[in-house]
Amino acid sequence: MAVQQNKVSKSRRNNRRAHDALVAANPNECANCGELKRPHHVCAACGHYDDREVVAQADDIDLDEDAA
Ligand SMILES: [Zn+2]
Repeated sequence: MAVQQNKVSKSRRNNRRAHDALVAANPNECANCGELKRPHHVCAACGHYDDREVVAQADDIDLDEDAA
């Protein structure tokens, strides 16, 4: 086990933690459906990225067993 050589003062500890704060997400509006989405990510609501559908949505896929 590592053993520290010197006491870390409250000031030094708190200074180290000064950059640890979480920042809020910065969502963009989806250009296709208007839903809020993460920047540079595929829209979770409609599967579009850069004005084209890149992930087919479940309701678009024909799951009819008889058709096969
Ligand atoms: Zn969308």
